Amino acid sequence: MKTQLITTINDLIAYKNKLTKNSSIGFVPTMGYLHKGHLSLIEASKQNNACTFVSIFVNPTQFGPNEDFEQYPRDLQKDFKLCEENGVDIVFAPQASEIYHNTDEIAILPPKNMAYVYEGFIREGHFEGVLQIVLKLFNLIYPTNAYFGQKDAQQLLLIQRLVLDLFLPINIIPCPTQRDIDGLALSSRNIYLNKEERQNAIKIPLALKHISDSIKKGENKTSILIKSAKTILEGLDIEYFDICDYNLTPLSKVQKNKSLALLAAKAGKTRLIDNLWI
Ligand code: AMP
Repeated sequence: MKTQLITTINDLIAYKNKLTKNSSIGFVPTMGYLHKGHLSLIEASKQNNACTFVSIFVNPTQFGPNEDFEQYPRDLQKDFKLCEENGVDIVFAPQASEIYHNTDEIAILPPKNMAYVYEGFIREGHFEGVLQIVLKLFNLIYPTNAYFGQKDAQQLLLIQRLVLDLFLPINIIPCPTQRDIDGLALSSRNIYLNKEERQNAIKIPLALKHISDSIKKGENKTSILIKSAKTILEGLDIEYFDICDYNLTPLSKVQKNKSLALLAAKAGKTRLIDNLWI
């Protein structure tokens, strides 16, 4: 079937009404400027659903006043082509005015212990914005399965809580982080990096690998793991680097299959995040 571009809620609802009842919908929410990380989510959706929806929307409410909302890379034409090539059924790419009607809309209050630490501490209001847009999109699309990258670990854990706490009948499917050959996690923001910054940026996956290797050798004290991994990150401006559980509570000792190393650092002006699911 031909990929269809939908930009209005009316057209989206009209399309949904035409779908056969009970046909499974896979949904991949994105901010566009698609790369192979996004495409892996699309691929996962295609495998298990009759119909795949991709949203492309740079959501203003999840950006702080001093963040890169205006500069965030956008290329709808190229994204649409990639979606076509990868068998997406619907690309939903609305204008902000279609999604937000009021300047002071109802928002979601995320759990304090999960949403105001790490990313949520550095990016004030970020997760309120993320949960608001994801819930709006869920309410519009009502997917059977929704696909999220483990690359944004805190976001994924909060969306799992959103679905659990609000009894949303949607399966959240976590997808592994896709990386470039040099190990750097794919991100739309990687295009901001110059050559030297990129050289420094690849120290991020190396530091995470160091943690993974040290755990394999028997080290389980998080302070020791972080301290030695930090030495690899010279040239980067570390914002946070910690090991926590899936409730985002810091741990003193690693617990297998229950821990997460979270790292955010700036290479030049570009913020990069990465993590290790332990
Ligand atoms: P974004 O467009 O950055 O909002 O990302 C949209 C979705 O793609 C989110 O669920 C991200 O976690 C996921 N994603 C982004 N980068 C990657 C990656 N390198 N590997 C896997 N998933 C990713």
